[in-house]
Amino acid sequence: MPQESTFDTSLLTFDQENIWHPYTSLTNPLPTYPVVSASGVRLKLADGKELIDGMSSWWTAIHGYNVPELNDAATDQLSKMAHVMFGGITHEPAIKLCHKLVEITPAGLEKVFLADSGSVSVEVAMKMAIQYQHAKGNSHKNKFMTIRNGYHGDTTGAMSVCDPEGGMHHLFSDFLPKHLFVDQPSKRFSEKYDEDELGQLEQFFRLNSDKCAAFILEPIVQGAGGMWFYSPDYLKKIRQLCDEHDMLLIADEIATGFGRTGKFFACEHADISPDIMCVGKALTGGYMTLAATLTTHQVAETICNGEAGVFMHGPTFMGNPLACAIANKSLELLLDSGWQSKIKAIEKQLKRELLPLGNALCVKDVRVLGAIGVVEMNDPVDVSRAQEFFVKNGVWIRPFRNLIYIMPPFVIEENDLHFLIVAISNYIDNI
Ligand SMILES: *Cc1c(COP(=O)(O)O)cnc(C)c1O
Repeated sequence: MPQESTFDTSLLTFDQENIWHPYTSLTNPLPTYPVVSASGVRLKLADGKELIDGMSSWWTAIHGYNVPELNDAATDQLSKMAHVMFGGITHEPAIKLCHKLVEITPAGLEKVFLADSGSVSVEVAMKMAIQYQHAKGNSHKNKFMTIRNGYHGDTTGAMSVCDPEGGMHHLFSDFLPKHLFVDQPSKRFSEKYDEDELGQLEQFFRLNSDKCAAFILEPIVQGAGGMWFYSPDYLKKIRQLCDEHDMLLIADEIATGFGRTGKFFACEHADISPDIMCVGKALTGGYMTLAATLTTHQVAETICNGEAGVFMHGPTFMGNPLACAIANKSLELLLDSGWQSKIKAIEKQLKRELLPLGNALCVKDVRVLGAIGVVEMNDPVDVSRAQEFFVKNGVWIRPFRNLIYIMPPFVIEENDLHFLIVAISNYIDNI
């Protein structure tokens, strides 16, 4: 074995003093762990220690790391072209990808806009809804409805439909557009709603739909806003109300897409098709940033018959060939992988081994759906202390607020998943 080079401490000092990490302070920085390589479900730290990954690098690395097939797809595409502009030019990797997306997404979604990140795909979805309503002569329908505790990204349009408290709307109150929030669905994934309870939603739509272009939501799983799994009945009801009130339904499947919840897309749990859908995160298997916004023929046609005559968006790196080529290979791998039985096996093990942690006094709730396991604590978790504990225990788990959660790569084996769960259990015992 070659000697591991240890990480230069002056680099770490620069990192702490000059580089913002997601949601961090530069005056009171939290520790960061230098990773030098990653392979399978393991991250390798600069000191040679290996960590089993419980996060899939935020929902993305579904095949694990350093995947030979994805590496080959990348080098193969690199030898042709890394990038070329998408204005007036097209290429096979993008066409192949969009064709595949149309094929695998819920019925009716057949027009594709390639975006460069999840947040941008949400901005695009919101602009589509606005252009659509404008073209229909409904320019007064220029607000959005959404659910409290949601998360749709960090750019300003996306942020304006994130949870008002989690997104600190008061800080940006004169800057952010104001939208309309309904309460988080109270019923869990496995629970039914009765019509009475959903009546409140009807009332809300009656009062507010005349100013709303669309309802935007994360189907079934609210991710970064609280890791809450809610009843498919609720999603069905929202679909029905959007139809009745001439509002579009935007499904943000950026976290839930590509098998994570046990269905290929979470909308399938409720058997509904949205009018606009965003995908991202796992689209390239965690290799590159890429996202897409899909919509129906009817929405696209209406937009293009509107005043602008075109859809008004076009990022510089739109349809990046390298990202598209990797996404094509990632989807091929996923679809050929027998993903349903893999997710089922992960779900079964999570239910067997993680749910019992709910007996601990400091634990408020434990929930599992597909390849997602969540331990909700009574009190907020000290993130840097927890991270240090987990690193010492050989796993990579990054809690937020009072949530310790894992969504491992789909390729994880039973003993490695067991190791992750034991680490969480040990953390809870040592609190
Ligand atoms: C992560 C996420 C986004 C934002 O995606 P980025 O690629 O970080 O911009 C939007 N919506 C949901 C549901 C997400 O989980």
